[in-house]
Amino acid sequence: MNDGSEMDLVIRGGTVVTASDTFRADVGIRDGRVALLAETITGARETLDAGGLMVLPGGVDAHCHLAQPPKGKVEYADDFESGTLSALAGGTTTVMPFALQLPDMSLRESVDDYHGKANGKAAIDYAFHLILNKTTPQILGQELPALIRDGYNSFKIFMTYDDFRLDDREILEILAVAGREGGLVMVHAENHHCIQWMSDELLAAGKKEPKYHATSRPMAVEREATHRAISLAEVAGVPVFLVHVSAREAAEQIAWARERDLPVYGETCPQYLCLSEEDLDRPGFEGAKFICSPPPRDAANPAALWRALQLGTLQLVSSDHSPTRFDDPKGKKVGGTDAPFTKVPNGIPGLETRLSLIWSEGVTAGRITANQFVDLTATAPAKMYGLTQKGRIAIGADADIVLWDPERRTTIKNEDQHHNMDYTPYEGFEVTGWPVTTLSRGEVVWQDGAITAEPGRGRFIVCDTPGPVVQAANRSG
Ligand SMILES: [Zn+2]
Repeated sequence: MNDGSEMDLVIRGGTVVTASDTFRADVGIRDGRVALLAETITGARETLDAGGLMVLPGGVDAHCHLAQPPKGKVEYADDFESGTLSALAGGTTTVMPFALQLPDMSLRESVDDYHGKANGKAAIDYAFHLILNKTTPQILGQELPALIRDGYNSFKIFMTYDDFRLDDREILEILAVAGREGGLVMVHAENHHCIQWMSDELLAAGKKEPKYHATSRPMAVEREATHRAISLAEVAGVPVFLVHVSAREAAEQIAWARERDLPVYGETCPQYLCLSEEDLDRPGFEGAKFICSPPPRDAANPAALWRALQLGTLQLVSSDHSPTRFDDPKGKKVGGTDAPFTKVPNGIPGLETRLSLIWSEGVTAGRITANQFVDLTATAPAKMYGLTQKGRIAIGADADIVLWDPERRTTIKNEDQHHNMDYTPYEGFEVTGWPVTTLSRGEVVWQDGAITAEPGRGRFIVCDTPGPVVQAANRSG
């Protein structure tokens, strides 16, 4: 028996599941942190009954797009308020969206601008990655190093998209800065000119329906760029992280690199584990609901990606939540329902459905253990990006916790979602496993289907050095 009289809250009767262990324990929380773990804690001022439930670290979604500025006429649906409320309703307690380098602004101003969008709106804690879409001596020599020193030490770069892509030389220069200053480069790996050429060929042949989006960027396109990103990082002598790995052939490149002892890491997303290119071939314009890049692949692909997760070839599962509404002239229908696939905005939502889908298809289906689930969705992402207070249940860690019902069956419906979207690509999916209660720093923010959080309570997290950077330094030092 342990005295809980100094605890603000005790979670009683649950089974704690961490990335390594599963055990029966009560969890005592004080000042927003885990302060006591014991078989039985009595005498607490407040208790939360977790009988029959699992007590997991809240999810860490290390790849999502919130309050992203419009792209032409296209508007992204979720800001920090709707995005974080949706996240916590799905059991996620930390998000890492992207501060985009804005035209006519310094990187620092872009980051400050992004803080303004999160401030007063975020309902859970958040850290930022940067997106770099141009390089200048000023950016590489001063702005980026200064931001890395301030804890903005992961940045995404693109090998495709007209307004984002960097060439190999620019990528090498960014990798070199990351190496010198202790940052981690995240790469969107697809071969730009292949996609352009394939798209032109398809459109010239009159093939413009949504399904040709997948045809225009086959696995080889991602495989080549993944290999190139790995090689550039090897030449620069730094770790690299491959975002949203969709194709088994890209995962094979990462396995190849890791086999050679290169510090190469990667994530995949529920859309590549649960959807396929068949979904893009739904009647009429419905396939546009599934247009994202890279695209979902063939029916044999998810099994290979699950294997990559089991083996540790890929270390994280993130949502890449990138929401544009369907029945909306500022969303998927910006060019009308006859628009060629090249004019349909990319991206799908998934912040709220990530944990249930991965539990259901992963743990319930027998592909991964509950501990692996915790690692892939919370612990590993926190370690990857230096979120030292997040992603685990341990003394002193933030009490970001989800009470998880591993048995509960639910049918996913968009009407039950909290994002600002008019569809979910997972409509009608039957899932097992559901967040009953979500706590953020010891505060109940979601309980029995109701949000109890005030927007604005979320805090910005200054990241520590990313895990791969620490490991690389230890090795060479
Ligand atoms: Zn991307």
